[in-house]
Amino acid sequence: MPLSLNQHLLPGRNFVGGEWCSAADDRTVAVVDPATEEAFATAPDSGAADALRAVDAAHAAFPAWRKTPAKQRAQIIKRWNDLVVSHQEDLGRLISSEQGKPLAEAKGEVLYAASYIEWFAEEATRADGDVIAAPVQGRRMLALREPVGVIAAITPWNFPAAMIARKIAPALAAGCTVVCKPAEDTPLTSLALVKLAQEAGVPPGVLNIVTASRDRAAEVVDVWLDDARVRKITFTGSTPVGKHLARRSAGTLKKLSLELGGNAPFIVFDDADLDAAVDGLMAAKFRNGGQTCVSPNRIYVQDKVHDAFVDKLAARVGALVVGPATDPAAQIGPMINARAVDKIERHVQDALSRGARVVVGGQRVRNAQCTGPNYYAPTVLVNADASMQCSCEETFGPVAPVTRFDTEADVVEAANATPFGLAAYFYSNDVRRIWRLADALETGIVGVNEGALAAEAAPFGGVKDSGYGREGSRHGLDEYMHIKYVCQGQLD
Ligand code: NAP
Repeated sequence: MPLSLNQHLLPGRNFVGGEWCSAADDRTVAVVDPATEEAFATAPDSGAADALRAVDAAHAAFPAWRKTPAKQRAQIIKRWNDLVVSHQEDLGRLISSEQGKPLAEAKGEVLYAASYIEWFAEEATRADGDVIAAPVQGRRMLALREPVGVIAAITPWNFPAAMIARKIAPALAAGCTVVCKPAEDTPLTSLALVKLAQEAGVPPGVLNIVTASRDRAAEVVDVWLDDARVRKITFTGSTPVGKHLARRSAGTLKKLSLELGGNAPFIVFDDADLDAAVDGLMAAKFRNGGQTCVSPNRIYVQDKVHDAFVDKLAARVGALVVGPATDPAAQIGPMINARAVDKIERHVQDALSRGARVVVGGQRVRNAQCTGPNYYAPTVLVNADASMQCSCEETFGPVAPVTRFDTEADVVEAANATPFGLAAYFYSNDVRRIWRLADALETGIVGVNEGALAAEAAPFGGVKDSGYGREGSRHGLDEYMHIKYVCQGQLD
């Protein structure tokens, strides 16, 4: 039995220039419930013509929006936040239906998304510049912050509400106008959020969204990459696609924020509080079924505490309830699609063939509750090593591969031996080690004795192949602004 949905939040069409409209060629793409693989809605399958119309609308709306006083923009964004919060249940149901995560978790994502909207509503009024102490007599020198212009936002499926909020709220707050393309798997949540933004009073053309199938994603985005009127691309997704966007947008030298893939290490030292470390790993690893960019992908446990830690972890992981979003007890939902489960299975088989051992899980789940093909059991592997696929690439699923280590120097070297650098976690009670590690880990985010790191007030983003740019915090607004230096002379 699927979740019931609020039809008011299902416009089922693109939003361009303040109008809800079909794709120019009327094509549509089915939206599928990952729990059953049954289609339950459609969204426009847009192409180049729709992408161009969206830029035309955003470009036309920019002059008035940038001149709208920041306080007025902030009030509109704040109303958007209020509407998102008051539709928490409806939006949660939409997220669960198209993305698969359990309803309680989906409702949590709605509030998490709203926290960014509220944050940037407040930041909008603080986009101050500087008055510079002039080094020369008779001059007045200022650094002004200005919106960069039209923004293109391209978002993934794993947090369909939060990823939209983290990009669109700061863009609107800065005075930018937006064109957006969500992932094929999760267009409905984005359309619903845009509907609420419209109701909050975002003027026509300021926020435009076109949805597309995976086959036509590049057709839409290429228009934006090549159009000089689009001044910034903000992207969350995989590293190969991020690099493609950087290369192609170089032709018009756009500003870029790239929130890309991770391969997070999670390190447990023998002086750690083991129960806290297990709690932290459960939160970081199994949230959203492991389908998060900051999910620990390589778990290193120091020799002396390895066996005790694995015993505690296996007990917790074995107790996780797998099921569809319609089951209130479910803690791990279906994976997003068949490709995702195939990848998880491939990683586990590869690890086993290279000497890893399954402690718990290790196979797909299919039973009276889990009737579709996309469920995978929460899994703990031991004897993982650096040669395994699960150590080199994101598994993006509920698999925790554990590697035993001996010294701090060894584990730091292993943790950094990856092209990625998004998040890292470690557990220790040695204060000197804590600061040594916080310095030595080559990532944009470090969790020290903490597994849940993301917050609207904190800068989120990576280094190396995990991209650049930050979302959230005061730095998140800077991504949508540039600095103009104004110098007035002859004042003597
Ligand atoms: P993806 O394949 O890169 O897709 C992300 C977005 O790009 C989707 O909207 C996708 O559309 C679109 N896209 C795909 N190919 C494109 C192309 N050639 N040109 C233009 N757009 C294209 O990534 P994903 O598999 O959806 O998401 C998982 C990845 O995102 C993981 O690597 C994860 O770590 C990363 N992620 C990073 C963060 C972070 O903050 N660093 C947060 C969440 C996720 P379709 O979906 O229609 O293909």
